[in-house]
Amino acid sequence: MGAGHPECPERLDAIEDRLLITGLGDALDRREAPLASVADLERAHSRMHVAALRGMTDQLQEQIIAGGPEHAQVDPDTSLNVHTWNAALRAAGAAVAATDAVMAGEMENAFCAVRPPGHHACRSEAMGFCFFNNVVVAARHALDRHGLSRVAIVDFDVHHGNGTEDIVAGDPRILMASFYQHPFYPYGAEHSDAANLVNLPVPAYTRGMDIREMIEQAWIPRLDAHKPEMIFISAGFDAHREDDMGQLGLVEQDYAWITSRIKDVARRHAKGRIVSCLEGGYHLGALARSVEAHIRVLADL
Ligand SMILES: [Zn+2]
Repeated sequence: MGAGHPECPERLDAIEDRLLITGLGDALDRREAPLASVADLERAHSRMHVAALRGMTDQLQEQIIAGGPEHAQVDPDTSLNVHTWNAALRAAGAAVAATDAVMAGEMENAFCAVRPPGHHACRSEAMGFCFFNNVVVAARHALDRHGLSRVAIVDFDVHHGNGTEDIVAGDPRILMASFYQHPFYPYGAEHSDAANLVNLPVPAYTRGMDIREMIEQAWIPRLDAHKPEMIFISAGFDAHREDDMGQLGLVEQDYAWITSRIKDVARRHAKGRIVSCLEGGYHLGALARSVEAHIRVLADL
């Protein structure tokens, strides 16, 4: 994204360091992410959106050769460099490969430590640090390629997953459950009242205990009623109280609790199948500790 941008490579380094220091990394089955195919992307995005990003990348390459700038601006917060296209394909490819591995029974669940994130990426628009919607690409892959009939997407990032909502609103096969700080970024994005969405907008400074109660009352009964055969998590950790990107008060134990409640639902309906994808989380220490808490619950470690 360019120097000084919060969505930076150090985010994945911080997670990697934490896995190393705690020894947790050694206990996990680790895999490299393949590139998603254009067909994978087009399950969530318009052909025009995929072609436009490809075109911007090619154009940028020519600009650089001619001595131009190394970044192209997609929206006021989001820019791409010549490596963004491949990184975005790998982020979506990780989610697809994780879905294949979980469906094949090679593992019960998977966490994808990926950048760029995906939940602001709309069907035909990149925005908010996101280019392709990794969780929706994977959810549609599970439905269309693995023949599942119902899945759920759970989003606990501090920001509203407007891109996910844009793509899945009205798709009865996918139940989307989320909470997010409101009013907040992305300002102005319309909140759909489609029947397959469980949206919980919460004011700034809401604490973890209140979030837990809302999840218990609003998410869990709807998830149980939907009986998802697989659950996808938009795992953003920017609702952490140390993260200045948002103003919510979650801590590591809240992420562990939320993960364990999602895992209970997955055990009841989905043979435990969960694919979790990193979204936000910009305070490096809080991000690394929260990802550790999330993975420990997923992996029973
Ligand atoms: Zn976020």
